[in-house]
Amino acid sequence: MYNAVNKLKETVIGVRDEEGFKGKIINVVNQLPYSCILNLSNTNQSILDKIKQLKLQKNPFNVYSEITPAHTPTEEHDLNPISHIQRRRSTITVNRTNNWRLTQRRGHSAMYAAIDSLKKDYQTLYIGGTGSIFTDENDPIEVNDINEEERDSLTSLLLSKYDMLPIFVEDKLASGHYEGYSKQVLWPLMHYLMWSDNVDEIAFWQDYVKVNEIFAQEAINHYNDGDIIWVHDYHLFLVPQMIRERLPDARVGLFIHTPFPSSEIFRCLPHRREVLQGILGANLIGLQTYDYARHFTSCCTRLLGYEYTPAGILGQGSLVQIGIYPIGIDLERTRDHCNRPGVEPKAKAIRERYAGKKLIIGRDKLDRVKGVLQKLEAFEIFLDTYPEWRDKVVLIQVTSPGVLDTPDLEKKANEIVARVNSKYGSLEFSPANLFNQHIDRDEYYALLKVADIGLVTPVIDGMNTSSFEYIVAQEGHHSPLILSEFTGTARSMSAAIIVNPWNFNEVARAIAECLSMSEEEKKIKYEQLSQFVTSHTASFWARSLVKGLLDTKKSNWGTTAPLDVSRVKVEYDNSSKRALFFDYDGTLVPIHANPEDAKPSERAIEVLKKLCENPQNVVWVVSGRTQEWLDRYLGHIPNLGLSAEHGCFIKDPQSSTWINTAENLDFSWKDGVKEVFEYYTERTPGSTVEEKECCIVWHYRKADPKFGAFQAMECQNHIEQNFVGKQPIECLPNKMNVEVRHSLINKGSVVNRVVAQNHTIDFVLCVGDDKTDEDMFRTLERIQASGTEVVQFIVIVGSHERKTLAKWRLESSTKFLDLLNLLLQE
Ligand SMILES: [Mg+2]
Repeated sequence: MYNAVNKLKETVIGVRDEEGFKGKIINVVNQLPYSCILNLSNTNQSILDKIKQLKLQKNPFNVYSEITPAHTPTEEHDLNPISHIQRRRSTITVNRTNNWRLTQRRGHSAMYAAIDSLKKDYQTLYIGGTGSIFTDENDPIEVNDINEEERDSLTSLLLSKYDMLPIFVEDKLASGHYEGYSKQVLWPLMHYLMWSDNVDEIAFWQDYVKVNEIFAQEAINHYNDGDIIWVHDYHLFLVPQMIRERLPDARVGLFIHTPFPSSEIFRCLPHRREVLQGILGANLIGLQTYDYARHFTSCCTRLLGYEYTPAGILGQGSLVQIGIYPIGIDLERTRDHCNRPGVEPKAKAIRERYAGKKLIIGRDKLDRVKGVLQKLEAFEIFLDTYPEWRDKVVLIQVTSPGVLDTPDLEKKANEIVARVNSKYGSLEFSPANLFNQHIDRDEYYALLKVADIGLVTPVIDGMNTSSFEYIVAQEGHHSPLILSEFTGTARSMSAAIIVNPWNFNEVARAIAECLSMSEEEKKIKYEQLSQFVTSHTASFWARSLVKGLLDTKKSNWGTTAPLDVSRVKVEYDNSSKRALFFDYDGTLVPIHANPEDAKPSERAIEVLKKLCENPQNVVWVVSGRTQEWLDRYLGHIPNLGLSAEHGCFIKDPQSSTWINTAENLDFSWKDGVKEVFEYYTERTPGSTVEEKECCIVWHYRKADPKFGAFQAMECQNHIEQNFVGKQPIECLPNKMNVEVRHSLINKGSVVNRVVAQNHTIDFVLCVGDDKTDEDMFRTLERIQASGTEVVQFIVIVGSHERKTLAKWRLESSTKFLDLLNLLLQE
């Protein structure tokens, strides 16, 4: 019997968290940091035949456009500062087997370095797609043509050498997911651009969902209890929720590397709800800056009607935390790159070629968001406005192909360059120089090193790690940095000259200012920038993510099980002191269309009376109703504790007077909130404002349901932006109303008080049906976590599919009364 009860307690209470993290860190990323190249000589005949056919068609899949050619160019001593040769895409083979060769993939170096740095202290697993696969002769191979043996060989190479697990996604699906939905719908959206009319959002969406499922499944397959999972970026927005459904207790984080746009932009996405819900499957969502976090939370309140609290987003009962983690670069590796033997000769060549000139350096992808056109325009204005610098300054702008194909952008950029050079250039001198090509790493760092000004002007950029690389390359030189206010890094690099890239005059002025800056001033500014870059490194970022996720409160996401009433009966009978907390509407009494009709049945009164007669029981009805209502319908029951207005007023079981727990609290915020509510009342026919002692409520029960719900989300957002965080209030989107109340008063405080007054309690039954009851549930969870040995039954009434902290579920208030009757039986 003892064992059975103990077992029972364990399932009810749950096993407590182990101290210290012993699991592994699973990073789920769209692609592996390596391009995988299949050795042709060991390849099966069918692939060779296929390749022959493919060669006949010219590049049939767009998906192959981002290929890194496999042949390694011979190291040559090209003294041309920036060569015009298109083949400049050196690759470094990092590992090989008989079948496979791995080369470093371009881009995202900060993220790859960060994830890699975790290996020093943790057991890690990196799950990523192979991306397109090529032969060593640079021919694309369809993933389906790669046989089991070849797959196994790649998997074992990656696993044994790098703790990485490749995911093979069939080409057409991968293309719809990556080239389609990720790059043509989500990427533009995250950067404040609309996708173009000819993008098939619906077809791409299917592929996006399928590929997300594949990644989620792979993470689930390799998950063990205690592991943590970090999902990265917009390619995998649905993965957190997909994992959550199968692993309710796993700690899952999502880091969004791009900007997060304002809700005005994000709401245009047809699948906005699905995407937000997918993201909200995570326990912790990481973003680069405070602004992006604000935009994200505002999407959750305006588009989903979720509640925002300073602790995070309450996604229907479960708390999703938001963290701000600006990414950094791998300092040591960047320094090594700056000091490679190939760098200095190139730097020297550039200096010689532009001897006596001041060099402004820009290096961006050729995407609309990178602000290359704006930069060129501003440079022209600079030369117009500051004639004294006309023959003394050179702009070297290197662009590499962007995420989207942008031939018109390239054309326009070339036009501006031609215009500037015809105006201010000569036969032997061109002030504006545009190189649209990949440059190799040595050239890149040589450019950063020789710069007299770094000019970084994106119109929107998640972070912009090249501005960090510039700072490292400038060690010993201290040239200033001009940085767009629309980069994530601008939030942390106040010692840069911060500009609005759309204001060409301002950028021109900033260039002039930098050119005449004293050495001393340069040094002071540089040191501040360097301080930030060298302390906020990639590994610092990765460690912060891990710590952030380990610190998240383990909220119970588990689906609720139907209440096993016989278990409750056993525990009830075996206990000596019991606390019973019941909500009123929807719990003791079914919900009525007209709240005035929701009076307690005789049966309900009868069971409450009997429960209260037993001195072993402490019984409380904890409601949102007023004192008058509770007094009128329940006040005559001896020994029943009552709480009105969600914990604001309480009447102890043996007392006949109400205590106002909010007496000394500040309610001056009510006037401002009331004004906002009145604004929405005027614009929402059928809605009303109700002012109570401790809270103020905007009801839209009688308004058009759809419009009412829409207005409620706007209203909630309005209050959150203007009051929450500044005033001690919480804004709760409830069933058909929005309630603003004092943050110190909720139903949880009643539970706390009762438990504190009755030390011998060994059994708790807490039953409720809506959001306000979650405060009781949360308080009980906290009490449990503090180590008290109490058997708890936290029960939600109703069949709706919302997330809750409750562990058990009862169908209806009738079933609830049945349960109470059962408890009363001898
Ligand atoms: Mg209720």
